[in-house]
Amino acid sequence: MCVMAMSAEQVVVEADLVAGRLCCPVCDGPLVPWGFARERTVRLLDETRLLRPRRACCRRCERTHVLLPAWALARRRDGTEVIGRALLAKANGQGHRTIAAALGRPAGTVRGWLRTFTRRAGAITTTEAGRDVPIDVKWLAGDA
Ligand SMILES: [Zn+2]
Repeated sequence: MCVMAMSAEQVVVEADLVAGRLCCPVCDGPLVPWGFARERTVRLLDETRLLRPRRACCRRCERTHVLLPAWALARRRDGTEVIGRALLAKANGQGHRTIAAALGRPAGTVRGWLRTFTRRAGAITTTEAGRDVPIDVKWLAGDA
């Protein structure tokens, strides 16, 4: 299974998926709807959202993919804006306890994000602007 981060709204992603306009990040084959991934809640800075990610299957290589909105990360309960803010605070010299207190998250959780990011920072690459880009987010989940 691969996780794809989508920057478009869910209705746009759904329409693109049904119309065959989304491509497999592995082989570039057409993706088709393949049910939904497990429903979960995602904590953002000011709200908690319920998320039921769309799954897609590649007709060519038969791999399945989870299509996540850009505000959610694979295997993380906290959203992109929360973890991103922690990484920015760390880059500005704050420690994990200070960041955790500011975000209202456990210090161990924040320390884990920062350590994982430090370990995986080399895997981050720049890609084409303006295109939904499949991102291998296993580096953040800590299992790549
Ligand atoms: Zn494929």
